[in-house]
Amino acid sequence: LPSSHHHHVALVSSPGMGHIIPILQLAKRLLTHQKINIRKATLFTVSFNSSSSSSKAEKDLLQSAIDDQSLSIDIIHLPPIHISNHNDVTIETKIAITMHEAPKLFATAISNMEFKPTMIITDYFLSQTLPLVKNMMKVPMYLFVPTNAWVVALGFHTPKLDKEVEGEYQSHGDSPILIPGCKAVHPSDLFQMMEDRTHRLYHEYLLMCEALPLADGIFVNTLEELEPKTFEALRSGKITKVPIFPIGPVIRETNNNNKQNNRINDVVNWLDKQEEESVIYVSLGSGYSMSYEQIKEMALGLEQSGKKFVWSLRPPSTKAGNNDHYLTAGEDAETNKKGHSSAQEETLTPESKNGETNSVTKSQESSDYFPEEFYRIQRNGIVLMDWAPQLEILSHPSIGGFVSHCGWNSIMESVSCGVPIICWPLFAEQMMNASMLEDEEEVGIAIRLNVSMSTKNVASEEIGKAMMKIMDKGDIEGCAIRKRVKKLKHIAEKAWSHDHGSSYFALSRIIDSNGAS
Ligand code: UDP
Repeated sequence: LPSSHHHHVALVSSPGMGHIIPILQLAKRLLTHQKINIRKATLFTVSFNSSSSSSKAEKDLLQSAIDDQSLSIDIIHLPPIHISNHNDVTIETKIAITMHEAPKLFATAISNMEFKPTMIITDYFLSQTLPLVKNMMKVPMYLFVPTNAWVVALGFHTPKLDKEVEGEYQSHGDSPILIPGCKAVHPSDLFQMMEDRTHRLYHEYLLMCEALPLADGIFVNTLEELEPKTFEALRSGKITKVPIFPIGPVIRETNNNNKQNNRINDVVNWLDKQEEESVIYVSLGSGYSMSYEQIKEMALGLEQSGKKFVWSLRPPSTKAGNNDHYLTAGEDAETNKKGHSSAQEETLTPESKNGETNSVTKSQESSDYFPEEFYRIQRNGIVLMDWAPQLEILSHPSIGGFVSHCGWNSIMESVSCGVPIICWPLFAEQMMNASMLEDEEEVGIAIRLNVSMSTKNVASEEIGKAMMKIMDKGDIEGCAIRKRVKKLKHIAEKAWSHDHGSSYFALSRIIDSNGAS
């Protein structure tokens, strides 16, 4: 294709806000890139045959892209993936079914399009699209990775590991998993898809990894400076020949000018009244619901630290004293609300108290809903039920730390805002992310909490201490962490500058690198 050709790019996202937010942002950046002629983007989304599979936040986000007159973005919802007995299927099986079914639905949809795409970008986890489309259309095919390059290196290396390693990867004591030229992966940090080799999820993951070499290029939502060693290894040709480009941070723009949005206004007004870098932001992701016990430890940790806070929270996944039921990342808040009465939900909505502060109030209906410790700390902060304007919060000068589950989007947002991280990794590749962030030789912008493997809980004393370390000015280690994250913030700012930005330039390779030129 000549580079003067006006391109139509078709993109497909995996389900979940952690995938949809960055790929939609990528579509916007392609359409507004001055060095490439992309006239139109069509984003395909994936859903299930259950009413709860797309949240209000997701619908609002997609609608705002359609409403944006300055961009030509179409959204097409692929036919829902049918899952029988939805409630009995584990999240791991659901992800496996998605990895298998979504590529077929996407391939059929693009083959039926009238205005055929001239290039295709698929979410990394839907890489099984590549062999299907390769046989059908002669267009360049790229992958977009909403996580880091280290995970990509592991993906390329997995088929080899699969042949060489006997039994479960984690059954070899403390021996690390080696990837040529890269930081080794500690067995307890292993990517969740590789945890059980007998599970269908591992089988689909392996198929996904085997398809990776078919990509014409891979765009990763990371910064070269975060992962210099991994990029060197990836470019050495020892792991793959596929060109891999860092294009991060691909994050949402802030929406501070949207005066219509009360939620943003309330939280920003409150933050405006706080001292610089004095408030901690707490969020364990877009889909995860903390258990009653986790909420209790977090509240106690906040109390012990004495820090003010903004907390993005969903209704607890368990009741007092019951630790059985945990929802994992990817399940949304709607699923979780089942069984909680709407009266409770209303009571738990933050209320504005004379414009002074927002708090969750304890009432008769809600008294056993959250732990006592949670109600005790309310005057010290804001709790935002269901969905927080995360970027507007992180970019506020009053924020001095972020307790995060280490989803990669959250990390890129925190880095872009220069906010140090307290890592509470839970699932997926989050343990790898946390180990990269805390490692001083690699990145060194975070403190990692000691998370129980079975309950995913952390002791309150540890949480409180980490908050003080990261935010109190006198702490030497905390100081070094803050300094490093501020340095990365400047690097991240430059990466997307339209003059010499490394990520801005790397994205233009989509037109003039190999397959697309
Ligand atoms: N997010 C948000 N408000 C919330 C929770 C999450 O805006 O209350 C956004 C967050 O800014 C990020 C995404 O949702 O862009 C979550 O992606 P991430 O990779 O951090 O974690 P995931 O939710 O996929 O586990």
